[in-house]
Amino acid sequence: MKISVIGSGYVGLVTGACFAKLGNDVVLVDIDAERVDMINRGEVPFYEPGLGEILKEGLAQGKIEAITDTISSVKWADVVFICVQTPTTPDGSVDITYVRAATKSVGEGLREREDTGYPVVVVKSSVVPGTTEFLVKPILEDLSGKKAGVEFGLAMNPEFLREGAAVKDFLEPDRIVIGALDEKSRNILSSLYSGFNCPLLHTNLVTVEMIKYASNAFLATKISFINEIANICESVPGLDVLEVARGIGLDHRVNPQFLNAGVGFGGSCLPKDLKALVAFVEDKGNYEPKLLKSVLEVNDFQPLRLVDLAVRVLGSLSGKRVSVLGLSFKPNTSDMREAPSIKIINRLLELEAEVVAYDPVARETARKELGDRITYAETVEECLKGADCCFIVTEWEQFKNLEPSDFKRLMKRPLIFDGRRVFNPEKFIAEKVDCYSVGLNKLSTS
Ligand code: NAD
Repeated sequence: MKISVIGSGYVGLVTGACFAKLGNDVVLVDIDAERVDMINRGEVPFYEPGLGEILKEGLAQGKIEAITDTISSVKWADVVFICVQTPTTPDGSVDITYVRAATKSVGEGLREREDTGYPVVVVKSSVVPGTTEFLVKPILEDLSGKKAGVEFGLAMNPEFLREGAAVKDFLEPDRIVIGALDEKSRNILSSLYSGFNCPLLHTNLVTVEMIKYASNAFLATKISFINEIANICESVPGLDVLEVARGIGLDHRVNPQFLNAGVGFGGSCLPKDLKALVAFVEDKGNYEPKLLKSVLEVNDFQPLRLVDLAVRVLGSLSGKRVSVLGLSFKPNTSDMREAPSIKIINRLLELEAEVVAYDPVARETARKELGDRITYAETVEECLKGADCCFIVTEWEQFKNLEPSDFKRLMKRPLIFDGRRVFNPEKFIAEKVDCYSVGLNKLSTS
């Protein structure tokens, strides 16, 4: 099929590159001309394992190209995916400015089409229930002068990929959910996804929008749940949240995923979608989403607990050199949107600590986010050198290989606050390295 993807960020670029890999012809569109040039050179504007290879493959085979002109791509395509960002507004609700603008351009493209085909417009951006039907559809109809379900199709098909594993997640999803306005759109999308080996769930537009938000709300709830259990474990001698989580996760009704206690969830989706859902429900005014609000509250507090612990151990952090290992919101991505590292570093700076941070790939993102308020180390060694304590904030594989001797050799005082349970604390304590771990009652050399 001929596929146009409006918005070439994480979701759009992965969607486009993967559909091209599956034999479709793809035009990626973005308003950012620099990004478009990068993509046409085979460069991925962010860190995502495996994506560069399939993008280059698609470019070499002439299956994919990037442009800035939405209208011409819509005139050409069988299916148009809208993949633009849906950030959070200051009150927590979803900002649909980008969806609105992209939809307008798509509507103009539909108006200029002279063929008798049946292009299907598919919203892939995460949007609150009702958006596709009551915002996207009227804009498309107004600007195109055509009728949805008659002259063009409309559907909503949310994306569940995880950054860091995006290509695999896209090509081997657990399920694909499609909400279509009409039978013809539904059939076209079924045929586009026919090669995928997973359940295909068909429902209506509003339900599919809710499925996306409810999925992320559930995952976020699981994380805040285990973090709360971790916080309880810390106050009871003999308890370790790792063992507790293992015991819970072996129950197939629960499963072990998203039961890793730590410094909280971040990223471009969970916090944003949860806030959007809460704002959406509150705006409706007939129900208070108490559980969802608590999930956010636990998450706001979680990163700061690690700093509080450091203050309890060290007294004051003023003038102390604090090494922060990991800046991205999770490993295998350079994304720092809503990363716990930001909250931790801001708090450390408030307490007048001198922060030196290292991340294998997120250094440039961090510079934009945190500026020159902290020092960026080029290596782990440089980051640890002369530090009074070390915070483990992202569980990069590289950090797991560090030995107690590395901390003893490099730091002024070998003291670790392990926010991601990267190290076996007993091993570190045995080698005289103080290692405080999330979800574990005090265990130290003294
Ligand atoms: P992103 O910010 O990485 O990319 C959005 C892109 O759209 C940008 O390159 C921007 O320049 C472009 N854009 C904005 N307006 C445009 C317009 N009018 N025309 C053409 N291009 C335009 O966003 P993302 O992370 O890919 O997220 C996209 C959507 O997918 C969001 O709704 C998000 O919630 C959802 N989502 C994201 C993920 C994820 O892991 N990032 C996973 C699932 C769903």
